Amino acid sequence: MKKREKWIGFAPAVMTAGMVLATMVVVPSARSAPAAPAPAAGDASGVVAVRAARIIDGRGGAPIRDGVVVVRGDRIESVGAAATIAVPAGAPVVDLGGATLLPGLIDLHTHLAGEVGVHWEEQLIKETPGKHALWGARNARDTLLAGFTTCRDMGPTWPYVDIDLRDAIDRGAIPGPRLMVAGNYVSATGGAGDARQFSIYVDVPLVQNLADGVDAVRRAVRTNFKHGADFVKILATGAVLSKGVPPGAQQYSDDELRVAVEEADRWGRQVAAHAHGAPGIKAAIRAGVRTVDHGSLIDEEAISMLKARRGKAWYVPTLYVGKAILDDGAALGIPASEIERERALMETKFVCFRRALAAGLDIPFSTDAGVFPHGRNAREFAVRVSLGEKPMQAILAATRVAAETIGWQERVGTIETGRFADLVAVAGDPLADITELERVRFVMKGGEVVRDDLTRR
Ligand SMILES: [Zn+2]
Repeated sequence: MKKREKWIGFAPAVMTAGMVLATMVVVPSARSAPAAPAPAAGDASGVVAVRAARIIDGRGGAPIRDGVVVVRGDRIESVGAAATIAVPAGAPVVDLGGATLLPGLIDLHTHLAGEVGVHWEEQLIKETPGKHALWGARNARDTLLAGFTTCRDMGPTWPYVDIDLRDAIDRGAIPGPRLMVAGNYVSATGGAGDARQFSIYVDVPLVQNLADGVDAVRRAVRTNFKHGADFVKILATGAVLSKGVPPGAQQYSDDELRVAVEEADRWGRQVAAHAHGAPGIKAAIRAGVRTVDHGSLIDEEAISMLKARRGKAWYVPTLYVGKAILDDGAALGIPASEIERERALMETKFVCFRRALAAGLDIPFSTDAGVFPHGRNAREFAVRVSLGEKPMQAILAATRVAAETIGWQERVGTIETGRFADLVAVAGDPLADITELERVRFVMKGGEVVRDDLTRR
């Protein structure tokens, strides 16, 4: 369990003198333009330095030994070895001692809204969007405190709750990661995201996410953007947690996928395709989607297609979730039939990950948190490393590579001048023990310290 009493963010009144940036309450989002005006040069107000034995800056080089990051307002001003960086006179220094400092972590596949452990069919019949928003706030806080300062949220059961969650975080009403949100995922009738998998006499009229045929898909994309979605999630194949078409089967036609991308392009936005089976994966890549999520049964041909689209399309696997479903599925409210769907996929999914790794793809970090409890996102690292990924590569997956995947590399993902001051620290060396990332001890988001178990005891 997390130490809840360590929670200090967004409560400036309880921060003691000398604590950093106590006046900064509203944390600007990566989506919106920066922030408070920087103080005049030489004025140390709003400036803080963070020092640590090791800095992994997310750019892929060797860690900086005895490093320091100077933060001004919500941005990183400079970073380097302490001997080479001038800390403005009077600026407080947060000395993290023997810790390792890294960029804030990024998870490209979460479902933050709602209570974990309640199956989505139960949610639709017995729960309200209000409950989903409240639990979403708690889940967002747990995710942030675990070191994930940016998430792409892949859609709530109750449409658009994620948009309100994003906005409440951006405006500083509640703590949470910077969010890129899907709004209302787009599904074919009888497909993975069909919310009407009940008796034909039971309807959920408030969930309008079915789109069949190119015109309906185009309308669904436009409706999402009209209501504030940042990107479109489309279900290209069946899913594990569904009774619809099997995970391996393609659900949307090539034409339907293509029109989703074409319409999103017009809005300057991206399409993420949920896809398990190889034909659906390849149809999604051909259509021009930004990410293929899960990608469980990705084959050599699909990997070659992604290599040809390097920098434009990414395979975004979710691996730990399979273990969570098999180990804890019943406790997580997952029906036996859906646990069996996962059992049939999991080993192949691991083989496919190794194949993509061997092919040299950049593979961003994602988890499907929400199927399992939020805040456990970092368990994905150990699975990836156990399958052959180098620890540094796994860290880059959750920092620079993830930021590039969603086009946010100028805002987050590395410790570099001008990026948001999103920093996390662990007590030990994650290159020696990747599970250190499951024990994040310090979190700063946009220059504000939201967790510090290292210097405040
Ligand atoms: Zn998902």
